[in-house]
Amino acid sequence: MTRRFDSVVIGAGQAGPPMAGRLAAAGQKVALIERNLVGGTCVNDGCTPTKTLIASAYAAHLARRAADFGVAAGPVGVDFRAVMARKNAVVDNSRSSLESWLEGMANCTLIRAHARFLSPTTLQVGEDVLEAERFFINVGCRAVVPDFPGIDRVRTLTNTSLLELDALPRRLVVVGGSYVGLEFAQMFRRFGAEVVIVEKAPRLTSREDEEVSEAIREILEAEGVEIRCGAECIRFAPHGADIAVGVDCTSGEPEVVGSHVLLAVGRRPNTDDLGLDAAGVRTDARGFIEVDDDLRTNVPHIWALGDCNGRGAFTHTSYNDFEIAAANLLDGAARKVSDRIPAYALYTDPPLGRVGLTEAGAKAKGRSVRIGRRPMTRVGRAVEKGETRGFIKVVVDRKTDAILGAAILGVGGDEAIHGVIEAMAAGVAASAYARVMAIHPTVSELVPTTFGELSL
Ligand SMILES: Cc1cc2nc3c(=O)[nH]c(=O)nc-3n(C[C@H](O)[C@H](O)[C@H](O)COP(=O)(O)OP(=O)(O)OC[C@H]3O[C@@H](n4cnc5c(N)ncnc54)[C@H](O)[C@@H]3O)c2cc1C
Repeated sequence: MTRRFDSVVIGAGQAGPPMAGRLAAAGQKVALIERNLVGGTCVNDGCTPTKTLIASAYAAHLARRAADFGVAAGPVGVDFRAVMARKNAVVDNSRSSLESWLEGMANCTLIRAHARFLSPTTLQVGEDVLEAERFFINVGCRAVVPDFPGIDRVRTLTNTSLLELDALPRRLVVVGGSYVGLEFAQMFRRFGAEVVIVEKAPRLTSREDEEVSEAIREILEAEGVEIRCGAECIRFAPHGADIAVGVDCTSGEPEVVGSHVLLAVGRRPNTDDLGLDAAGVRTDARGFIEVDDDLRTNVPHIWALGDCNGRGAFTHTSYNDFEIAAANLLDGAARKVSDRIPAYALYTDPPLGRVGLTEAGAKAKGRSVRIGRRPMTRVGRAVEKGETRGFIKVVVDRKTDAILGAAILGVGGDEAIHGVIEAMAAGVAASAYARVMAIHPTVSELVPTTFGELSL
């Protein structure tokens, strides 16, 4: 059967549902297609479950440190099933609220099936063919499972399957020392597992400045996480009931053994089974859909929003894609994706809040910079909370006084960074930021101070 719609949205992740909502509210007849779980990665196997688990891991960590605060507590135990049940409840609640909103939405039909283009104006969706004037692709990404030697001989986990475990791994090997891997590594260590991180690059989070990577390494090692960087030749083999992971490091044992292995080595777009050739939509060599500043593909009535366009890899970038596309299409705005300032957080404890350029990134662009730094040991709120690991670092253009970027690795860093994000968005100069009166005692109050103490 052929069904006609004004607009079809493919994928109910972070951009698809609000896009469907705006289009439907504007009076269009809309179809929203989802082949798996409504809410996509963030709700089901990304942000929501991991941040919920991280909260449990933090509670366990703080309970173990109770004596540091003068609090008497008995031995700390972690009930992994209860931890996972709490996570499932938060995820289920989030997904079902979204589901109820979408199912009750006037002018919008939620269709649960896989979508594949047959032509630039038609889609195969289950048994039906859908025809529309406009299409919005929001198909997201999935975990990469590389063709490592021996991978077919062992059982490995991704962020999706790890979140379905019902028993705590005895010894978890996390392959990949970037954002996803580090969050899982620290939380599982805090739940009581032995954890080893195996990273190919010479250091963790290699996109950050070296001092940030080094501080994160120290934080994790202090909690007993083993870290093996420079793992040039990762390979797998069964080792009794366990799994041996070859690391080929220049020093130390040539392999590590774990009861479980998590692969956290990157994400690839879900564009390989979407029939993009039939629609004439161009992708880059890695399968990301090419878009212009308006988030339109090379086919003018087809947009690509969220992770699948390679212009962001976060929930907030996906949602911002929706805001830009909707404003331009429905409100006559002229917003551009290139206007946004990169910002994100790594939810280790303490977290890393980041915005704009790193020091190394600014220098690589030929900028002459001044740097402000303050250790968390000199942030009153952090001292009072007994959480003094990390530092504040700001990067300022020497010639123009423009704020180029910042990193706040420390307690509350994921929140405190927002002052800098908003200042950069508003074009506030570093010297003006330095004069802001902030609330005492907060982590944020020392950010203006850091801008006032730049290197010469
Ligand atoms: C472990 C982990 C933790 C994360 N934590 C954070 C965090 O703390 N903060 C943050 O900002 N980001 C985080 N992210 C990233 C974040 O989850 C993603 O950036 C975000 O979900 C992207 O949203 P999206 O809308 O582009 O795609 P998705 O949320 O992936 O949604 C895409 C949807 O499209 C559907 N789909 C795909 N192909 C088809 C098809 N052919 N037909 C029909 N439906 C289809 C999928 O089933 C899916 O539901 C995390 C990711 C991971 C893996």
